[in-house]
Amino acid sequence: MASFPSLAVQGDAGISGYVSMWIIAIVALTVFAFIIRSRIELLLAGQKDPRFSNLKQRFLDLIEFGFIQKRQPRYLWAGVIHIMIFWGFVVLGLRSLDLVTEGLGIPIFRPFMQSPLGLFYNSIKDVFELIVLIACIWAILRRAIVKPERYEGSHTAEAYLVLGLISFLMISDMLFEGCGILLTGDGTGEWLPAAWIGILFLPKNSPGALSVILCIAYWLHILAFFVFLNLLPLFKHFHIITALPNVFFRKQNKGEIKPARYGVDDIFDLETLGVEKIEDFTWKHILDLYTCTECGRCTDNCPANAIGRPLSPKQLTIKLRDHAYEKYPIIPSRNLDKEGEGATPMVGGIIGLDELWSCTTCGACEEECPVFIEYIDKIIDMRRHVLETSQNPKTFNQILMYVEKTGNPFGKPAVKRADWVKEQEIEDVKILKEGDRVDVLYYVDGYASFDPRSQEIAAAIVRGLKLAGMDFGILGKLEKDTGHQVRRMGEEGLFQVLVEENTETLSNIDFKWIVTTDPHAYNALKKDYPESYKVFHYSQFFLSLVETGLLRPNRAVEKSDLYTYHDPCYLGRHNGIYHEPRRLLTSIPDLRLVEMDRSRDRSFCCGGGDVMLWHEIEQEEMRMAEKRVHMALETGANVMVTACPFCLMHFEDAIKTGGLEDKIRVVDLMELFMSTF
Ligand code: SF4
Ligand code: SF4
Repeated sequence: MASFPSLAVQGDAGISGYVSMWIIAIVALTVFAFIIRSRIELLLAGQKDPRFSNLKQRFLDLIEFGFIQKRQPRYLWAGVIHIMIFWGFVVLGLRSLDLVTEGLGIPIFRPFMQSPLGLFYNSIKDVFELIVLIACIWAILRRAIVKPERYEGSHTAEAYLVLGLISFLMISDMLFEGCGILLTGDGTGEWLPAAWIGILFLPKNSPGALSVILCIAYWLHILAFFVFLNLLPLFKHFHIITALPNVFFRKQNKGEIKPARYGVDDIFDLETLGVEKIEDFTWKHILDLYTCTECGRCTDNCPANAIGRPLSPKQLTIKLRDHAYEKYPIIPSRNLDKEGEGATPMVGGIIGLDELWSCTTCGACEEECPVFIEYIDKIIDMRRHVLETSQNPKTFNQILMYVEKTGNPFGKPAVKRADWVKEQEIEDVKILKEGDRVDVLYYVDGYASFDPRSQEIAAAIVRGLKLAGMDFGILGKLEKDTGHQVRRMGEEGLFQVLVEENTETLSNIDFKWIVTTDPHAYNALKKDYPESYKVFHYSQFFLSLVETGLLRPNRAVEKSDLYTYHDPCYLGRHNGIYHEPRRLLTSIPDLRLVEMDRSRDRSFCCGGGDVMLWHEIEQEEMRMAEKRVHMALETGANVMVTACPFCLMHFEDAIKTGGLEDKIRVVDLMELFMSTF
């Protein structure tokens, strides 16, 4: 094994080598502590966020997504490069510690390094040195030549600087190790490919020159190491330190929305509900800002961004991070008053209101992010502030007033909530009242109760339940909207009122299961409500009826039709229900199904069932639904199937306005299913 400078070089330099190393280490670590102080200060200023539950799962996630980096290969080549560099860092970390401690005169890793296992490690380390160098050069060339669009707006100069520094660390170690081998003859029998490459560039027959190069390579390597360490908290490469903790503390339940403040039982006791300033975010959401790698995968998958809305999740994080770093600078300034009069507000200034309303809460960004950065909770927290301060679009006020007064966004009297049953010419539907008992409580929700097109889906569900001989009922005037939309608009107070009223109603009915029409009501009852109901989306429930033999579709569809299924965000991404709707579809005789490129967890939002129902964003270049219909057409399908009344509404509209009626039609899964009996 090659000698180390403390032996080969510092031995000649005497005590001055150790002294120099101690000075460098103390200065570098002091500067690092000083820089990191402001980052920790901001983290501590953040709000509570309990992330220590379910520790076993957290450790498993850390292995799967932190160390195995399972999400990285979703972008194949970029993922491969990242995995190469990540594992290089893990392996080479020990090498760096060995070099530093050796230089300090406390060679605690030497015994291991000189053991048989240490010799094996030395070879592995050398292989990884080459891997990391190749990956860095590859990454630099990709950025410079391929220029992936998703890197637009990232801090490119920083990326080059850090990739260059990492490459320099690898090259200096290769030369250092190569010099050691040539000077001492140690390591000649070992497999050290990086050192061999280093040797190719060294003057083999000049021991004097080799000693000088060895010394320079060592000290430059050490200096580069400490410079690199100090650059990390300044740039996006802070993720090298924060990514593993961020993965460990990831949000574990998709589809859930965080409360206005953790640890507060009654939100009406709070003076403020939303996020107005950076410290109003939770510590985990601040850690998110430190962790963003600026890879742009979130924006690349954001449907709002794809159609020209003024929202890029990556930029949202970058803007919040820049603002946070300005407010908590490395060198504190007494004159800094970022929230004084005339300062740009964070919400409504740095983050524009249209930016906030552009989000459909589809979850595509969070699904893609390799380091589990959360967007939906942050956006809703900021929306809460917007509503609190009455900066919301005026159209919301009437909707919210209707929901508050009548329990539905149409402002229709509660007593008319079950009228759709008659309008759809269905007989014998039990309207439940307090104390009733039933197997299936069909939670219709607002749209399927009052919107004529959605009522047809409700009618199909009721016919299906009857055909299967289920004992079921609906709540009629006792039912109020679940509040899914209201909560995601940021109106937490009204949402809590709806939860209280609906929970009270449900507690007075004896039922086994709840079945819902739309994925939003399903998600609300399953994830937003405090009670644990046995709740099913109709696709799950009817699949179980097919699988238990209670229902069997017997009429085939046209063989010439080709179907494609659109995964609604709140069924798929937020609840992992991909399999059941497809199984239900393929239970239909002769049905041919093709998949869109963007399906399952990469599904493309239809335009949203939440805020977007009541607010249009002017900057749109095209409707989301229009883009999605074109994706369906690309498969060659002539029938699009979905399992959400909002998706259906958006797609029908897009097909009509796009003049595509002769090319494709859209159907709801339940209506299609019931047409086969
Ligand atoms: S939730 Fe969807 S719309 Fe919102 S930022 Fe993420 S990807 Fe974009
Ligand atoms: S939030 Fe995640 S996906 Fe988006 S740029 Fe940052 S690291 Fe990449």
